Amino acid sequence: MSLAQASATARRVLLPATLDRAPPPLGGRVHGFTGRTMGTTWSVRLVAGVRLAREPVFRAIQGALDEVVAQMSTWEPGSTLSRFNRAEAGTWHPLPAEFHEVLACARAVAERSDGAFDPTAGALVDAWGFGPAPRGELPRAARLAQARARAGWRRLDLDPARRALLQPGRLALDLSAIAKGFGVDLVARRLHALGLESHLVEVGGELRGSGVKPDGRPWWVQLEHPDAEAGGAPVLLALHGLSVATSGDYRRWFEHAGTRYSHTIDPRDGLPIRHGLAAVTVIHAGCMQADAWSTALNVLGPVDGTALAGRLGLAARFVVRRGAGFEERTSVAFDQFLK
Ligand code: AMP
Ligand code: MG
Repeated sequence: MSLAQASATARRVLLPATLDRAPPPLGGRVHGFTGRTMGTTWSVRLVAGVRLAREPVFRAIQGALDEVVAQMSTWEPGSTLSRFNRAEAGTWHPLPAEFHEVLACARAVAERSDGAFDPTAGALVDAWGFGPAPRGELPRAARLAQARARAGWRRLDLDPARRALLQPGRLALDLSAIAKGFGVDLVARRLHALGLESHLVEVGGELRGSGVKPDGRPWWVQLEHPDAEAGGAPVLLALHGLSVATSGDYRRWFEHAGTRYSHTIDPRDGLPIRHGLAAVTVIHAGCMQADAWSTALNVLGPVDGTALAGRLGLAARFVVRRGAGFEERTSVAFDQFLK
């Protein structure tokens, strides 16, 4: 791990190693699309001919995101996930391919993060009022104990051959920490299928880029920082075959009696995280993985999180609160992008 020295003037630039092999610029121009999904906004920029029929492209994008919501939303009572959460103990549930893919990735991240990331934390999320039913007060100890007893990724019994999941009894899934990233990946897949190879897809701040713009330049994005003013030099990343996702309590929190609580829960003690991390950004080929790992490292915190990112070779940046300011820690894999 290294402590990156943020200079107030220099712009730090991250370039993927594959950029040298970028295909020659395509013809056409950049088209922009926007919409709403998952309680936030999405945006897509893509390269296509001037005569692009926009309506089918918009429908493909919105349709992909609507599918993710219909399958994996905790906010939709009729989603596949909500129905699973209400199901009787001992029942098996065939999963759509996308749900299965996300759950398999979520379980792998849970295992590798030793339960810091946990897709079965739904009852804990509800107990704290971070789910669809907000609460004005903190949960009592008995309620928390019940919610903790219901959670645990080891209770997941997934039959890959049948793509079916067992409801062992009151297990409550929450895929909110990974579904946005998967939504980005699914949109990118649908755009590729339409022959739209060069695009930048964003859902609620999680991003994935592919190809280059008509002028041959990559899709440049600026990495999020909790305090753009005080955060030192902005980091620019060329999203060429790469995704980036950020998890941080500066984005969303719950306030009670003057105290701010993070929406991210440490499933190991059932409490909102409180180790002073403002944000974790992860760069990964897949946005689903970037999303899940940014949450996992956020739970692990600046010490254990940087250690695990180092061991697994994850490209991660930790923004840690220090008094009134911020300190940054980056993993070796992250630094290797810096030019
Ligand atoms: P993100 O912004 O991607 O870090 O996701 C935060 C959301 O994930 C929360 O609002 C909860 O719905 C859910 N969540 C909270 N804690 C965890 C956790 N430890 N593992 C997985 N999901 C979580
Ligand atoms: Mg996440």
